[in-house]
Amino acid sequence: MIAGNWKEHLNVSQSSLLLHRLHERIKVHRSVEVVLAPTMLALQPLSMQIDRRKFRLAAQNAYHIDEGAFTGEVSFAMLQDLVTYAIIGHSDRRNKFNENLDEVCAKVAAAVRSDIIPILCVGETQTERLAGETTRVIHDQVVTALANVTAKEVQSMVIAYEPVWALSSGTDFLHHETPKPDEIKKAANVIRHNVKELYGVKAAEGIRVLYGGSANASSAYDLLNVEGIDGLLVGGASLNYHEFSGIVDAAYRKSRSED
Ligand code: PEP
Repeated sequence: MIAGNWKEHLNVSQSSLLLHRLHERIKVHRSVEVVLAPTMLALQPLSMQIDRRKFRLAAQNAYHIDEGAFTGEVSFAMLQDLVTYAIIGHSDRRNKFNENLDEVCAKVAAAVRSDIIPILCVGETQTERLAGETTRVIHDQVVTALANVTAKEVQSMVIAYEPVWALSSGTDFLHHETPKPDEIKKAANVIRHNVKELYGVKAAEGIRVLYGGSANASSAYDLLNVEGIDGLLVGGASLNYHEFSGIVDAAYRKSRSED
């Protein structure tokens, strides 16, 4: 799976233009699922434009209560027919909007209730990394987020390991520091181990684990070959159609090498 998080970039017409360019460049690859997460406002128009053989849509966030007096919010229930996935617990939301572990847990449950597959983001900050707390942070974020869902629901979920210190600002994704393959492999193992402890082997084998943090067209193939990694969550590079289609190509090459 390759998922593009467009964050707070591109208005509706710019989003539509990027999708148009991606349609031109990206072929139908049955073996590679490509997911696009534009701004909330663009989900409706893009859902009319999208070639569903090539792309699926994801929300970047939503509100955990289905309906009520919550002025300004959009619930997962309202996105039900528009998106296949929703990014939940992105570090932008945890760190800039103070989303805590309980809120992330409520959002995971709300997404699942509306038949939307969560792409749960977990990962340590630089301070936590330097303090040797990576394993504990991942454990806490995984375990609390999954508290209100069943083993069967967990099985189809996606968990993205996104070390906060490796995320680009949106433009420096070509030169940003990224983890070594061994660190990514270890984090993927920790995620699967935590899921296994809670929900058993089937759930741990079923979840897809993505890596996210300054991935780009030239690093994608190696990142995709890290043991335990099933795909990439891409931020800055997903806004550039050369880069993003290069990343999808890398995933396609990898899937062909496995045939
Ligand atoms: C992200 O924000 O989810 C992300 C992976 O960003 P970037 O690729 O720009 O580091």
